[in-house]
Amino acid sequence: MDRKKEILEILKEKEKISVKELSKIFKVSEMTIYRDVRELEKEKKVKRKYGLIILNKEEKTKNVLIKQCPICEKPITRPRPYRIILENSETVEACCEHCGLLLHQKYENQKVSAITYDFITDSPITAFDAYFVVGSEAIPCCSPSVIPFASRETALKFKKGFGGEVLNFVDTYNKLTQKIQINLKICCEEDNSKNFIKISEIKNKSK
Ligand SMILES: [Zn+2]
Ligand SMILES: [Zn+2]
Repeated sequence: MDRKKEILEILKEKEKISVKELSKIFKVSEMTIYRDVRELEKEKKVKRKYGLIILNKEEKTKNVLIKQCPICEKPITRPRPYRIILENSETVEACCEHCGLLLHQKYENQKVSAITYDFITDSPITAFDAYFVVGSEAIPCCSPSVIPFASRETALKFKKGFGGEVLNFVDTYNKLTQKIQINLKICCEEDNSKNFIKISEIKNKSK
């Protein structure tokens, strides 16, 4: 996956970020990030100000329409939704990590990247490196809730307070997709059966 595209995605949420922060997120040297930023600068996508990287205006206004969650059909209202970035740099968003991980099924055979945000600090994390508290009492969106953390330690602390289990990306994905039928039903219970039918249509399409 193209790190430059991911940097742009992060900037769409965070407005500005330092090279140091980015090097932590991507686990590469600051020099590597610096090179990406230089290229993005040449492409006029970002500029630097007071040592921070800022998104250029034209980039900011790209794809900011209100979207609907492709899994549960709720409007995506979170300022930092779960985001899957496809190889053609198109992005797809889900209302929360629960739906986001289910959405990965659609792209199972494609190279994708995904960004989520630490529940406590709001800092961006590559979803594949995140730890998720699954099925806790805290249900910010769809149930069973899947809440992302940058570190296993914070996830465990959260689990102490709210229950659930701490899983890595792959285990969370497997757990959710194995139970997809049940999960989707719970996910939309508050709405009505109409949504459930629509979801089965989505499922048929993806077959
Ligand atoms: Zn959803
Ligand atoms: Zn949700």
